[in-house]
Amino acid sequence: MTVSERFLRYVSFDTTPDEFSETCPSTDRQKLLGAALVEEMLSMGITDARMDEHGYVYGTVPGDPSLPTIGLIAHMDTAPDAPGANICPRIVEYTGGDILLNASEQIVMKASAFESLATCVDKHLIVTDGTTLLGADDKAGIAEILTAAELLMSSQQPHATLKIGFTPDEEIGRGADLFDVAGFGADYAYTVDGGPVGELEYENFNAAGAKVEFKGLNIHPGSAKDKMVNSQYLAMEFQSLLPVHQKPETTEGYEGFIHLTDMEGCVEQSTLRYIIRDHDMDKFLAKKQVMEAAAAFMNEKYGADTVKLTLRDSYFNMRQKIEPCMYIVERAKRAMEQVGMNPVEVPIRGGTDGARLSYMGLPCPNLCTGGHNYHGRYEYIAIEDMEACTALLVQILTDIA
Ligand SMILES: [Zn+2]
Repeated sequence: MTVSERFLRYVSFDTTPDEFSETCPSTDRQKLLGAALVEEMLSMGITDARMDEHGYVYGTVPGDPSLPTIGLIAHMDTAPDAPGANICPRIVEYTGGDILLNASEQIVMKASAFESLATCVDKHLIVTDGTTLLGADDKAGIAEILTAAELLMSSQQPHATLKIGFTPDEEIGRGADLFDVAGFGADYAYTVDGGPVGELEYENFNAAGAKVEFKGLNIHPGSAKDKMVNSQYLAMEFQSLLPVHQKPETTEGYEGFIHLTDMEGCVEQSTLRYIIRDHDMDKFLAKKQVMEAAAAFMNEKYGADTVKLTLRDSYFNMRQKIEPCMYIVERAKRAMEQVGMNPVEVPIRGGTDGARLSYMGLPCPNLCTGGHNYHGRYEYIAIEDMEACTALLVQILTDIA
């Protein structure tokens, strides 16, 4: 099977997760794709292919035992942000200009709005009908990994042992939760979950959440003088103590932020919720300290227990775990150059499963899949780019330098 045939088969499975479900996988339908992948892997000769009770799929392509054992990981679910059922993919021989995705609903992908299209002239694009996402995130990763596995198994070239892992529920932040790092048995791994060709990521945010509760005192406003404490004003004062320019809407690249995600309040009780993000650990800690100092200042001013701050770390920058083993990144970069890609290292302004896996003992940078416009109805991927990403994976596994 070619990489595009595989891909078109996988996108016929609806694997939308459900963040309100407490099971793993969060939706049973993800296991239908998992079972199909196990069947396919077994028929390819991956004899230990299996799905565990939580819907994680694993398998091994044995290689030269003197080489490092390398993992390739992709996720089976698709983003809940856009419909993921009844996907009607179509192959377009792209010659430039706008693409009419859906004639009856007049849904058009405009070249002026999606600059990446200009890089895809003369390629075969797989697009949606404009009513669903495509699922290249991350079914392209799965198709590329299994096609690479097939190429490795049929080639005479010496290659590293490949450990394959397909996870559920990445899009709702749980893909690494029940990943069996010890059982996986790789020395290191790559998630194949990035965007355009050449993307190579090994830095993400350090992340924490903050809940700030303010205690007020309600009393009839007619007799409130010197008695009422309006917790909503306390909340506003707290916000006013935070750095004005460290917000998502005023930052980019390596600039971190403190982001007020929601607020609720009445006179008696108010709550602010924030997320805190920074690539740099010292700056990340400093942002948390700013919040602690603001809470302490207000408790000093208005009395202890006026403000209650609860900080919780979410995930950390994988760079701290990758830096001691930069040869993993170097290997990917070298392979990219060997297959004619131009490596582009971009800091992720978010987190990845690979970040969590890196902290679980499996260093795990992220590689491109070739897709564009993830999580939406304008998602597309070029067949030629999927082939290039497949070649990249083969190159990584056969690099015996
Ligand atoms: Zn993804």
